[in-house]
Amino acid sequence: MTPHPIEIAVFAGDGIGPEIIREALKVLRLVADRSGISLSLTEGLIGGSAYDACGTPFPDESLNLALQSDAVLLGAVGGPKWEGLDYSVRPERALLGLREKLGLYANLRPVLVFDELADASPLKKDLVQGIDLLILRELTGDIYFGKPRGVTKDESGRRTGVNTMIYTEDEIRRIAVRAFELARGRRKKLLSVDKANVLETTELWRQVVTETGRGYSDVALSHMYVDNCAMQLVRNPSQFDVIVTANLFGDILSDEAAMLTGSIGMLPSASLGDGKALYEPIHGSAPDIAGQNIANPLATILSAAMMLRYSLNRPEEAALIEQSVKNVLRDGWRTPDIAAAGDRKASTEQMGDAVIRKLSSLLREPA
Ligand code: NAD
Repeated sequence: MTPHPIEIAVFAGDGIGPEIIREALKVLRLVADRSGISLSLTEGLIGGSAYDACGTPFPDESLNLALQSDAVLLGAVGGPKWEGLDYSVRPERALLGLREKLGLYANLRPVLVFDELADASPLKKDLVQGIDLLILRELTGDIYFGKPRGVTKDESGRRTGVNTMIYTEDEIRRIAVRAFELARGRRKKLLSVDKANVLETTELWRQVVTETGRGYSDVALSHMYVDNCAMQLVRNPSQFDVIVTANLFGDILSDEAAMLTGSIGMLPSASLGDGKALYEPIHGSAPDIAGQNIANPLATILSAAMMLRYSLNRPEEAALIEQSVKNVLRDGWRTPDIAAAGDRKASTEQMGDAVIRKLSSLLREPA
């Protein structure tokens, strides 16, 4: 009996989205062919291109496609063409809708500095060489969603703004479990970041993470205040393995950590729920370079590798894709965003093809 295919929804989106997704799909198809994985890749519309075609950035057909799929691969959405639209139909609304409907509460951002690109970092080379950390950010709670919220006026017209930082222990436990499991699959070091010295919500965060840790005696748990963590990320980033934190702190720390690499076109991400997951590069639709075949496809290709690791339970194939990217960089292939003066510049397609050649030599032919 042929196995039931794994259903992947593919949303290329806007700007450079179609160009980078094309290269990631080549990689996924090669892995599927060689490793005997039965993959069904179905493309759908999202973002500005969906708005142009259907009058909404997130049509029902796209929602249904995502809901019926095992995982979603996304390029990027948005661009100047749609900036004047009402907020409710802006391309970026589609992403919020997708995350909400799929119940994605854990955002993973691996930050890996490839030796060949260590010069691209704004930090000194010897500080960033060898960085291999993973930031896990809670995505559905905290001050972004807590109530009460808003701006009120008293009788004298003086305005007061309020937002509420809130977490239930179940929400904290759920992300903590993810964090310990992820740390277990890596170097078994977990750092939980909070501000427990002044914020009661994060004092609860620290307690629940500590309680959860009792079930993971093989993982070394430590805690750090967010201000110290922000400093340590630029002072000594190689000390970190897995960092877990709440939505607000994670929003800021993950952008800081991403900059350590100096190359936005290299960084993948995953957003996980219970069952469903979304994989996408961390960058946007880069309208300034769209349609020129010069965008860096590696973040999207590495997002496809994350999909193999976390949704398809194929860590070996994921590692081979990552190894292929390393090998391609070692051979000197560079898209313009990561090229230094004198480097040979590759197009989006040439970069994708270079990865395919490396991967092809690493993957065994099917028996
Ligand atoms: P951006 O990430 O699209 O671009 C920032 C800079 O990085 C640009 O100079 C761009 O050319 C460059 N860049 C980005 N990705 C690259 C790649 N793969 N290869 C080479 N260079 C790359 O951010 P922005 O300019 O602030 O936003 C552009 C549009 O993207 C906006 O409409 C924004 O709302 C949207 N956006 C979407 C997402 C998403 O879809 N997840 C995320 C961020 C921004």
